[in-house]
Amino acid sequence: MAFAFTLSCGIVFKKYVLKPPSCTTLMCIDLHTHSLYSDGSHTPHELVALGLQNKLRCLALTDHDTVEGVTDLLRYGKKAGLPVLSGMEVSTTLRNYTVHILGYGFDPELPELHRWLRPLQDSRARRNQNILAKLHNLGIDISEEELQAVSGEGQTGRPHFARLLVQRGVVASFDAAFSRYLGRNKPAWVPRFSYSAPEAIAMIHRAGGKAVLAHPGMLSPDMRVIVALVEELAHQGLDGLEVYYPSHSRQLCRRLINLASIHRLLVTGGSDFHGATRPAHPLASRTNGFCPPASLLSPLLAALANQHDQQPFFH
Ligand SMILES: [Zn+2]
Ligand SMILES: [Zn+2]
Repeated sequence: MAFAFTLSCGIVFKKYVLKPPSCTTLMCIDLHTHSLYSDGSHTPHELVALGLQNKLRCLALTDHDTVEGVTDLLRYGKKAGLPVLSGMEVSTTLRNYTVHILGYGFDPELPELHRWLRPLQDSRARRNQNILAKLHNLGIDISEEELQAVSGEGQTGRPHFARLLVQRGVVASFDAAFSRYLGRNKPAWVPRFSYSAPEAIAMIHRAGGKAVLAHPGMLSPDMRVIVALVEELAHQGLDGLEVYYPSHSRQLCRRLINLASIHRLLVTGGSDFHGATRPAHPLASRTNGFCPPASLLSPLLAALANQHDQQPFFH
């Protein structure tokens, strides 16, 4: 196995690292972004350009239920000299909670992973048809063409419906589209297939990646619920917590860091950047007030390098 660099952070990493990241805490990483392969508005190429512009030390693409954009991201990142990491975000269930699990550093070409993602993608498509029908029954007619036009070439989902409802003036905001129509148990709510959280964690591990709980603060306003769910997930193989997230308060970040250390979990962070779909979530940068520190990267890369002999999907 060829090792090319000893990073300034003290970890040995493999030949696929183009530039050893420095460990200065003044630099930011962004390990949670979406492209137009799911419900974001940017191509992977544009994300890399933005990442460079924001001087990120690492960018991961974490589209919902798809890894379609990852190969492009790895290619463009390598070309541009921006360290990038393979990623995805999967909506799972844990008892009656919807739990978003992020996967990092896995092999995006693994056939088993593609087969595993297929039922999620199929049920998404079926759900969109059912949402169109429910909205029609509520007197809101949206054609498949309109939906396609707003979603572009990637996965279509509820954020695209929300954008159309705002454009039409049916609701005043993206959030109102969810709270009045598209959210759980609202008039246009349609459930869809999901894996359990342990199933998603196991699949990410089989693909050589690490599994991280996305935005734990969104699980519940009750910290006791978060503590209990993290403990349960940690026993099921969870590797990390997304501590740095735009809606997490400083106090919540501190409590999550503490929780991560109790369960020996990695700490990650990301903006949940969607571009025009969610303008309130800009990509991380030193200047916009949201900057997950670059020092989080080394433990994640070290954990990935320890996990398996293959190339961790980091360029
Ligand atoms: Zn999420
Ligand atoms: Zn997300």
